[in-house]
Amino acid sequence: MDCIFCRIVAGELPAHKVYEDADLLAFMDIQPITRGHVLLIPKQHHATLLDTPAHMLAKITAALPEVCHAVTRGTGAEGFNILQSNGACAGQVVGHIHFHIVPRKTGDGIGLGFRHHPPVKDDLARTAQDIRSALA
Ligand code: 5GP
Ligand code: ZN
Repeated sequence: MDCIFCRIVAGELPAHKVYEDADLLAFMDIQPITRGHVLLIPKQHHATLLDTPAHMLAKITAALPEVCHAVTRGTGAEGFNILQSNGACAGQVVGHIHFHIVPRKTGDGIGLGFRHHPPVKDDLARTAQDIRSALA
């Protein structure tokens, strides 16, 4: 088994667990962005959001608010970011789907590093059409 998160699920690697049920596990990120940074994962190995069955995504999204609530209450955070990366190009390092829960406070100085471009109307219309076509 070469997946770090599967090894944590199997108990082969240690982790500071904060939530567990039959299908899901949440544990402290070993290199936290802020204090209280938690990862929520399905115990089953799925690489990305697009590989994860809908019923499992439903279980994750059902548990997510409860875990986020506990993270904010437990750390005294004012809010939080949920980050979920798919593919190496998007910054996914561990190939087992995971949701980052990153507690936030006003003025904590954390930047997400995304830069927005100025709106380009033609491009928005064309790209929206491309996406609608891909859905059809
Ligand atoms: P990604 O960049 O794939 O979205 O996030 C992977 C996350 O897993 C990183 O934030 C990293 O700190 C965390 N991580 C990597 N290896 C381990 C580990 O062995 N234990 C724990 N608890 N977290 C890990
Ligand atoms: Zn895995």
